[in-house]
Amino acid sequence: MKTIGLIGGMSWESSAHYYRILNQETANRLGGLHSAPVLMHSLDFAPIAAMQAAGEWEAAGRQLNAAAQGLVRAGAAVLGLATNTMHVVADVMLEGIDIPFIHIADPTAAALLGDGYDTVGLLGTRFTMEMDFYKQRLASHGLDVLVPEVDHTNLNGIIYEELCKGIVREESRHTYQAAIDRMAARGAQAVILGCTEIGMLIDDSSSALPTYDTTDLHARALVSAALD
Ligand code: GLU
Repeated sequence: MKTIGLIGGMSWESSAHYYRILNQETANRLGGLHSAPVLMHSLDFAPIAAMQAAGEWEAAGRQLNAAAQGLVRAGAAVLGLATNTMHVVADVMLEGIDIPFIHIADPTAAALLGDGYDTVGLLGTRFTMEMDFYKQRLASHGLDVLVPEVDHTNLNGIIYEELCKGIVREESRHTYQAAIDRMAARGAQAVILGCTEIGMLIDDSSSALPTYDTTDLHARALVSAALD
């Protein structure tokens, strides 16, 4: 099995889920005491979040590129970025990187299409919902993507002010459930949990639509790539 390089810390709450899923999936596939060979570069999220808020994407991309280069030098043979939002700078991050990169939207789209869905709702940070990079990647696979029409600020705030700090509130779950309900009414057949922390708040049992958790799907895809 190849070594998985993971750029995490955005937030560390979701990176902890990645670590668990990478190892569980590896044990499921290989049995016995097998676990995943993983190198994680876990960044301090505060300066990254500040760069996001200031629109300093190029600088953030350079920092991720330095992390990616370090992981390659340390022996990573497959690369993942454990946040949907920061895929906005994937091109900058991948400059000079020649190991396979598993884009978080790709296994997500494959799972949805494999289950027969073509019109999906997308929940994530305001960057993921409002900017084009993520919706276009999903559309390139043939998906029609809906995002919430209103309430972005609140959905976004719950991610940064609560979930990234490990805070899970029932009231926030209701906010997300209401957003899912509204997208279902507009024709969404399923919903992408397009932020790696939303799985802490919402799953199939609490959602009116089937959920596709990007953390789970991405981590499993990284294991598949490492075993390929
Ligand atoms: N983990 C989140 C995501 O998947 C948000 C944190 C970030 O902005 O990187 O988008």
